Amino acid sequence: MAASQTSMNLQALLHYDREHLWHPYASMTDPLPVYPVQSASGVRIRLMDGRELIDGMASWWSVIHGYSHPVLVQALQEQAGRMAHVMFGGLTHAPAVELAKLLVEMTPAGLDKVFLCDSGSVAVEVAMKMAIQYQHASGHPERSRFLTLCGGYHGDTFHAMSVCDPVGGMHHLYSTVLPQYFFADRPQCRFSDPWDSRDIDSFARLIEEHRQELCAVILEPIVQGAGGMRFYHPEYLRQVRALCDQSQVLLIADEIATGFGRSGELFACNHADISPDIMCLGKALTGGMMTLAAVLCTDQVATTISTGSPGVFMHGPTFMANPLACQVACASIGLLLESDWQQKVHHIGQLLEQGLRPCREFAGVQDVRVLGAIGVVEMKEPVAMREIQAAFVERGVWVRPFGRLVYVMPPYCMDEDDLHSLTTAIVEVVAREGRP
Ligand SMILES: *Cc1c(COP(=O)(O)O)cnc(C)c1O
Repeated sequence: MAASQTSMNLQALLHYDREHLWHPYASMTDPLPVYPVQSASGVRIRLMDGRELIDGMASWWSVIHGYSHPVLVQALQEQAGRMAHVMFGGLTHAPAVELAKLLVEMTPAGLDKVFLCDSGSVAVEVAMKMAIQYQHASGHPERSRFLTLCGGYHGDTFHAMSVCDPVGGMHHLYSTVLPQYFFADRPQCRFSDPWDSRDIDSFARLIEEHRQELCAVILEPIVQGAGGMRFYHPEYLRQVRALCDQSQVLLIADEIATGFGRSGELFACNHADISPDIMCLGKALTGGMMTLAAVLCTDQVATTISTGSPGVFMHGPTFMANPLACQVACASIGLLLESDWQQKVHHIGQLLEQGLRPCREFAGVQDVRVLGAIGVVEMKEPVAMREIQAAFVERGVWVRPFGRLVYVMPPYCMDEDDLHSLTTAIVEVVAREGRP
């Protein structure tokens, strides 16, 4: 009786979902199947039909400590009891101040001022607005355009879309309404290859040609995420920093995916020992419990904006610095910094490297690469989503490929056995792909 009721409810839920709910990048008339989740804890997602999946995605980079971590749950509950939200205009609170302190201390030197907002895409909008206001306040209103890299991804809102990869990016249909910016060739030199000095040529040429109209460069440091899951050479980033300085163009580092240890350093900029002028954080900021993002900038950027006209930074979302999210972010950063995260990330990287190695032999596979706790199998052809998704679920793992990319970024707490199950499932599933 109870079981049949559950399955009735399950069917009804799935039916209503299919009829009424948009999912990310989804069709309303021919949707791919979705799997109803009952709960999640540690590295496991429990489906409503009772099956359990080992989570390889950390819910898109964010759940670094695993689901339902008791410390985060407690932080959330305690803060909910004190105050779930209060406006940030004219008021402040300890969760926001403590979070700002943690972020200023842990991020690369010079990033001193913190703007707290709701999501990654909004953080990118805020960063771009800061760059425009900075140049305006510096007496250069004509410097209002952006230079970025092919193969990048910065979010789904309009200005964020304008700096996503113009071809492979998912936004070309909007190209007529988006501002047209400058795209340097995507870095070719891989993270651990010897540096090839020609790699920077395209970028160097564009910044030289357009310096008078550029306000900032925006890029994902070291790891290009949703635009292709590629890892490029730290020297590229160092040279970008130097060229920005020479041209008086700001550097915005979008660390929304890479922040908080994922690439093997706390921030990907650390691989190159550089500090950007503006840095965007999101995703793992709250350990995946709430949506929250942060934009940090230097004192120079903040002071210039604040002493120019109109003398204020023109942005202020309703839920800015939401106390629940800030308190959970503080707790998540605390967990991270008191753990041996670097060792864990390194170990996951080694196991991904070993576990995914057999994929290199398959005819359908273009490349296998690992950096930090990120593992990528790049196929030669786009995967068949419907089939591949089901094949992973059948094997008890949650992996969500896109395009030609089968990739994982597990929670840092995943143990060897679960990592083994995860990589074994990928090897088995990828072996089937590309077969006639
Ligand atoms: C996910 C992501 C964003 C967008 O963040 P949302 O929270 O999805 O709006 C921006 N930049 C990078 C590098 C990302 O990975």
